[in-house]
Amino acid sequence: MATAMGNKIKAARKAAGFSMMALAQEIGATRTEIGEWEAGLSKPRRKQLASLADVLKLSTDELAAVPKQKPAAKPAKTKMAPSTSAASQGGTKLDERQLRAGIIETALIMSRTGLSPGRSGNVSARWKSGMLITPTGMAYEQLKPKDIVFVDAEGVPAAGARRPSSEWRFHLAGYETRADCQAIVHCHSTHAVVLACAHKPIPAFHYMVAVAGGMQIPLVPYATFGTEDLSTHVRGGLKNHSACLMANHGQIACAASLPAALELAQEVEGLAEQYYKVLTLGKPHILGDEEMQTVLTKFESYGQ
Ligand SMILES: [Zn+2]
Repeated sequence: MATAMGNKIKAARKAAGFSMMALAQEIGATRTEIGEWEAGLSKPRRKQLASLADVLKLSTDELAAVPKQKPAAKPAKTKMAPSTSAASQGGTKLDERQLRAGIIETALIMSRTGLSPGRSGNVSARWKSGMLITPTGMAYEQLKPKDIVFVDAEGVPAAGARRPSSEWRFHLAGYETRADCQAIVHCHSTHAVVLACAHKPIPAFHYMVAVAGGMQIPLVPYATFGTEDLSTHVRGGLKNHSACLMANHGQIACAASLPAALELAQEVEGLAEQYYKVLTLGKPHILGDEEMQTVLTKFESYGQ
C-alpha cells in the first residue's frame, strides 16, 4: 500500500517527467527500488537520498522519513537444521521456507508496482528437481509460504498442495530450457501487453534492450494459456534471451534470482512503454548489430 511519501515521490517523479527507469538511471538506483519506494515498501538508502532529493526537488529530511514497512512475507525463523538442499539464488543459498517467502514477496512487489493488474501474474523459483510456484486464484496478500506449490520436473504438484498457477507449464519449460535460470516472473504488464497484442517485438531502439541478453526482446507466437503449445513457444523465446513478449498475452522474464527476475520484468515493461511512445512519433532509429554487440559485451563485463 502506497504511503503519503510514496505518493509524493511518484507525483514528483511524474511532474519531473521521469519514467521509473529514467529516474533509476538518473540517480543510480534500480527500477525495483523506485517501485518499492513508491509502493511504501522501503525507503531510499542513504547514498541515494541526496540525488533523489536533488532530482525531485524534495528535501532529504522528507525522503528519509519514508516509513520502512514490515515486509509482507518476512522469512520466518525456522527450526529446521541447515538445509542440505538449499537453492542457489543469485549466489545466495536459500532454504525452502526462505524461497517460498521470497516468491510471495516478489509477487507482492509485482502487484504493488503495477506490473500485474488483478491476479494476472505468477512467480516461480527453481527448487530441487522442479520448482516452487504461486498457486492459482489466490490474492497475493493472502499468500502464506505453505500456499506456494512444489511442482516436480514431470509437472506433478506435491500431494496435498494447492493447485499451481494455470501457467505452470511454461515456467517449467523455462527451467528446462535455461540451466542458468533460478527464478521466473510472468506478468501482463500494460505496455508489454500493448506491444504483444500488436505483435511487435522490441528492437534495439535503445541500448538497454540488451538487458534481455540479445539484440532485441523477441515476441513468441500466441497459444492458449496453460497449454503445451504455449510452453513450446516460450522455450523458443527464452532459448537465447532472458525475457520475451508473448503474443496477445504478456511477458516472461527469467534470471539467477527472484529480485533479478522481477527487475528484468520491470525493465521490459519500461522499455515496452518507451518503445510504444517512440512509435507514436514515427519510425524509430534502430541501433545496428555491431553497436548492440558492443553493448552486450560491456554488459557481460558488468556481470549482467
Ligand atoms: Zn499470463
